[in-house]
Amino acid sequence: MRFEIVTIFPGFFSSFFENGILRRALGEGLVEVGVHDLRAFTHDRHRTVDDRPFGGGEGMVLKPQPIAEALASLGIEPLKRAAVPDPEASKDVPRSRVILLSAQGRPFTQALARELASLDRVVLICGRYEGVDERINELYCDMELSIGDYVLSGGELAAAVVIDATMRLIPGVLGNEASSEFESFGIADGQIVSQADGVPRSQHGAGGLLDYPHYTRPAEFAGLRAPEVLLNGDHLQIRRWRREQQLRKTLANRPDLIQYAALSDEDRKLLDAIRKPSQTGSP
Ligand code: SAM
Repeated sequence: MRFEIVTIFPGFFSSFFENGILRRALGEGLVEVGVHDLRAFTHDRHRTVDDRPFGGGEGMVLKPQPIAEALASLGIEPLKRAAVPDPEASKDVPRSRVILLSAQGRPFTQALARELASLDRVVLICGRYEGVDERINELYCDMELSIGDYVLSGGELAAAVVIDATMRLIPGVLGNEASSEFESFGIADGQIVSQADGVPRSQHGAGGLLDYPHYTRPAEFAGLRAPEVLLNGDHLQIRRWRREQQLRKTLANRPDLIQYAALSDEDRKLLDAIRKPSQTGSP
């Protein structure tokens, strides 16, 4: 899979590519990245990429022309808005998306990262200043993506987040394929195909819940002991304990996720039990 990044700060990404899982994935050719300097697509002495906003107001706006030329260099033309879509048109075309990083975008989620990981190419346009001329969004972009409800000074950090979360879901990138199924926002047990090998699982599939807490040696640290259940080797008890912790953590930190989570009857009972003490204590 290939990521193309359009940016005015190409140097931003160098250390990002040189470390960890991404470095290995790049080295093994599982992931490719192209970084495209927007200033290379300008035609004036000052290599100008921005201009003042029509209608006045604060700041500057990234001009459409250099971005359009950068996209053209990647073979990307304005989206055709045919009245009757041609079903043959998209056959054999690499599956790709053009994404504008924007605080106004739809939220980036693990589910979307999974969707992107199944594509051949993802093009990420990084805004700066007050943002990008809206016609780029209208003409070229399949979606606007936000990495959270806050405003960054540029889309580069957001592009790095999207690449990081997406590339680790590409088959072969993580050493253990199951890892991404068992972590926060992971898929439900029923959807996990890589099981039934007789080896006790580290937990149930996360089923859209947050992950459980992790502990390692020493068993006692700064007067706090790791939970006894994790030390006793009873895998069924460990799985149950971990599931309960997932439910507790999700309820405490992200109660909004519970409604979308894949819950068993046992989970629902556990949730009721967890909720009870706080309900009795409320006025
Ligand atoms: N005027 C814009 C607004 O209020 O929505 C903010 C522009 S911001 C200072 C500059 C660039 O940072 C944006 O064009 C976008 O590419 C990027 N950016 C800022 N916040 C972001 C977020 N939450 N998610 C993704 N990209 C973001």
